[in-house]
Amino acid sequence: MVSTHGISLKTRGDNDVHDITGEVAAAATESGVRNGIVTVFVPGSTAGITAIEYEPGMIHDLQDFLERTAPTDAPYRHNHGGDSNGHAHVRSAFIGPSLSVPLIDGRLGLGTWQQIVLIDFDDRPRTRQVTVQTVGE
Ligand code: ZN
Repeated sequence: MVSTHGISLKTRGDNDVHDITGEVAAAATESGVRNGIVTVFVPGSTAGITAIEYEPGMIHDLQDFLERTAPTDAPYRHNHGGDSNGHAHVRSAFIGPSLSVPLIDGRLGLGTWQQIVLIDFDDRPRTRQVTVQTVGE
């Protein structure tokens, strides 16, 4: 069986991190699938999906890491055409747009301190549509 759900959320941009574990778990439950794989994907080249311990210190550490790794004010060729979000595209490519999580007996096979997050790297507020696709039986 294949089941596809959408999650809509508003972000502030600039490395805004959202815990979407609850919404993903709800979508997986709604699918009726008990065992399989859940893919979480964000369409768009300035956002990312990953897993992390969602606590304030760690979120700041991740945001600081991204700023050090792909600084906002570094010279990006992408920005020559009038865009100002070269850093956001690089961060998105680095983190990646999706995550796959095993679904085991109806539950996401995550660690206790492992949450699914969407990060919006863009330099302005956005509305993001996240696709949650559950495949299994
Ligand atoms: Zn751009």
